[in-house]
Amino acid sequence: MLKQMENAGLTDLHFGLDPATGLKAIIAIHSTARGPAIGGCRFIHYTREQDAITDALRLARGMSYKAALAGLPHGGGKAVIIKPEGAFDRAALMQAFGRMVDQLGGRYITAMDSGTEVSDMDAIETTTRFVSCTSASGDPSPHTSLGVFEGIKAAVMHQLGKDSLAGLSIAIQGLGHVGYALAQRLHQAGVQLYVADIERERTDRCVREFNARAVATEAIYDTGADIFSPCGLGATLNSDTIPRLNCRIVAGCANNQLATDEDGNRLRQRGILYVPDYVLNAGGLIHVAMHHAGRSANERDAKIRGIAATLTHLFAEADRTGQSVHHVADLHAESLLQAAGEVQLTHQHQEVQHA
Ligand code: NAD
Repeated sequence: MLKQMENAGLTDLHFGLDPATGLKAIIAIHSTARGPAIGGCRFIHYTREQDAITDALRLARGMSYKAALAGLPHGGGKAVIIKPEGAFDRAALMQAFGRMVDQLGGRYITAMDSGTEVSDMDAIETTTRFVSCTSASGDPSPHTSLGVFEGIKAAVMHQLGKDSLAGLSIAIQGLGHVGYALAQRLHQAGVQLYVADIERERTDRCVREFNARAVATEAIYDTGADIFSPCGLGATLNSDTIPRLNCRIVAGCANNQLATDEDGNRLRQRGILYVPDYVLNAGGLIHVAMHHAGRSANERDAKIRGIAATLTHLFAEADRTGQSVHHVADLHAESLLQAAGEVQLTHQHQEVQHA
């Protein structure tokens, strides 16, 4: 277990058990060098406990990278609650999880993730203040879509030399909370949309409202649109799908879009600019973190729009060094975390000296 933690670069791993409510939870903290760790809480079935632990370990580091490149004063963490088999009192279980979070004294702030809902965050809030995504903060998806939209504009400027999206075509895979909101923004910007979703009514709605062209889910890679935007599940960019893309840019909100690291290089070799998912989709995290900190909507929106400048910087660095953008993003996040670690060490050192 300690070796697994070391490989994942974690600082601490917490296990919580509450037989009265059936709570079995894991909280993995990757870093608090830049501030309290923040990250969602999954609530799904796991056939093996080890799979739940692996999920928490594997996802915490990504949150540190995302928060660092978003310029947030947070580190990364992730929680997993193993969904009990059979009947259970959901609110009581969430409250027990809140008590576990509270015991960490603010080292970790929890949020929504797969399987958790706003009502769960409201239940957690009754036992800890270290929670976001409650009904007071609202759905993060529109904020994620704003960041993706601004990031797409930066990518178009860099790759196509255009300062407007009007007249371009974009194929969106997945029209859920973020995909639909993004489609709306792109339509308003004069983009021709190709859309696909496994839920037929979601594509129909975009056809009706945005004059989009509906495409079968398997054909979304073959539209020839200028930009491919993965907004459904992860790992859709792989050795089968990448050769089919005839676009210049890949930019969407889905997490973990590349099936393997090698797929980022594959896109680059094909002359396709891949916009790193965790940089592009940070708008929702920026919203929850800044709402939690009591910052204004204007400050939040300015930070979300700042995703474009971060990307422009990463694109230029990738061109200068001949590396792929996702690799440059990882290196940049690591150097920010390392610098913050040194700052924290210096700070602690001064405190010790003063004591
Ligand atoms: P969602 O569940 O609301 O939407 C996902 C959509 O993708 C659904 O409409 C689903 O039917 C569709 N879909 C699933 N498989 C598909 C396939 N093979 N082809 C076409 N469509 C398919 O989720 P969301 O909140 O919109 O998030 C979308 C992605 O963005 C996820 O990967 C999520 O982790 C990531 N993300 C979301 C946010 C946010 O603020 N919601 C923030 C960061 C990252």
